Amino acid sequence: MTDFIQEGDKYLIGNYARYPVSFVKGEGVYLYDDKGRRYIDMLAGIAVNTLGYNHPAITEAICNQARQIIHVSNLFYIQPQIEVAKILVENSCGDRVFFCNSGAEANEAAIKLIRRYFYDKGEDRYEIVTFEGGFHGRTLATITATSQTKYQEGFAPLPEGFKYAKFNDLNSVKSAITQKTAAVMIEIIQGEGGVNPAEKKFLEDLYQLCREQGVLFVTDEVQTGIGRTGKLFAYQHFDIEPDIITLAKGLGGGVPIGAVISKEEIARSFVPGTHGSTFGGNYLATTAARAVLNEVLKEGFLNEVAEKGEFLKEKLSEIGLNPRGMGLMIGCPLPESKNAGEVAKKALENGLVIGTAGGNTLRFVPPLIITKDEISEAVNILQKVVN
Ligand code: PLP
Repeated sequence: MTDFIQEGDKYLIGNYARYPVSFVKGEGVYLYDDKGRRYIDMLAGIAVNTLGYNHPAITEAICNQARQIIHVSNLFYIQPQIEVAKILVENSCGDRVFFCNSGAEANEAAIKLIRRYFYDKGEDRYEIVTFEGGFHGRTLATITATSQTKYQEGFAPLPEGFKYAKFNDLNSVKSAITQKTAAVMIEIIQGEGGVNPAEKKFLEDLYQLCREQGVLFVTDEVQTGIGRTGKLFAYQHFDIEPDIITLAKGLGGGVPIGAVISKEEIARSFVPGTHGSTFGGNYLATTAARAVLNEVLKEGFLNEVAEKGEFLKEKLSEIGLNPRGMGLMIGCPLPESKNAGEVAKKALENGLVIGTAGGNTLRFVPPLIITKDEISEAVNILQKVVN
């Protein structure tokens, strides 16, 4: 084992189970470890590296930006931050954007914004309904929004005001909604929970239910956003219009950034002093995000993501797996006889990086720039491993 890996085990807090591998370089969809070994990457840093590695659009943008200015704080106007906000607004149903640094922070900000909005209206609504199998982050509020007890154990007392409903079950949501309900927050495809897509009818009925009940409809697009499903935002596959959308992961193409897109009326509740972030939307992060968005919004890019996703599904079906998901966010549940973690480990030993998710599921969230040939190459390695 490389020395620094042993040092990592000594000096780092041990909250991650890591593979004993260290990647030091990437190019396109390929990663290289410190021994020069090449891997094909179907994980993209957990749905982050939208344009793969060393994409000239991002690399040049952030190198040039670093030579000018990296950070100044939100006491001042930051041009790329404003440009990214404009792109997000012009390409979504939202009106205004707040920037932070991660998915958990984006959801935390959304939770605060929801509460503050009803507070300002003088309505005693603060409860947020989320879904079993969901995942919204690791802060105290977002582990509470995350219904799964494995993320909450040992961290009591948790904040009040969260209720859980069954995914794809409208009656369950109806039972959870009370006069105190402020919002419903949902992942269009549950990522960490096992790549579980919401059903079209459920989502559209849920949206209507929220409208009827005066409840805000919030989509956590931290994992599904920025082209991952073949549209810029996953909600755009459906006849729904979120009041709030949260983003992170793919937005910065690897540079940490999170965002909340909100409708005007709700956004007005964040006035100076109500919420903030020192780093949120700084020059470096928003320069990266601008580069990512400009690539993803190029003519044909999103259609190609959708097409390549279908191709990946076909290939996975051919080797006997049962893919589900949209675009390049695909999960394959494995039978009990095969352990997803073991398969991912063996895949890595064979030069293929794949992820896992809840419910013994293999997760494929490659860089969106992957080609069909590269998809075939990855599935060929997987076939050997699975057999
Ligand atoms: N929301 C969803 C849907 C996610 O998948 C994740 C991370 O996996 C988060 C929120 C939390 O994001 P972060 O790890 O950037 O805080």
